[in-house]
Amino acid sequence: MSPEVVRVLTGHRQGPLDSECGGQLFADPRGTGAPVLAVATLPHPRDRAGHTWLELDPMRCETEAAHWQSRGLLRVGVWHTHAEAYPKLSNQDLRSFRAYSRANQFFPVAVIVGQAAAPDGVRAWSIREHESPQAQSPDSCPVGSSGSNLPLD
Ligand SMILES: [Zn+2]
Repeated sequence: MSPEVVRVLTGHRQGPLDSECGGQLFADPRGTGAPVLAVATLPHPRDRAGHTWLELDPMRCETEAAHWQSRGLLRVGVWHTHAEAYPKLSNQDLRSFRAYSRANQFFPVAVIVGQAAAPDGVRAWSIREHESPQAQSPDSCPVGSSGSNLPLD
């Protein structure tokens, strides 16, 4: 994760009365070594959200994808906040990540930002259609050259 991504994620930790918020994640495949998460986009006013749910606006997702892909980055997934210290993937999360996956034709990395300090308060999952995902630390989460070839784990 780039320092900028860490700043965006930890800067939006959910307070007790806040709605969830989130954005998309883009990786930079250039340079040496594994691709790094280079960009986390900000919450958008057209997103719909409550205390325990969030729907990213599909139009803004498309606009962001076009913007960053034209600059050589790859769309790899989504992030959002939870109103709990140590984030867990809910069934609602799984449904919405799988819908996102089908809509955008790749298997996303999903980062959830809890209220506890990093590293334990931030977790990542790679979402596939038929597996129950395992939590990983964001820095070890696979960021493939395209979402569809994330390694199985
Ligand atoms: Zn969630």
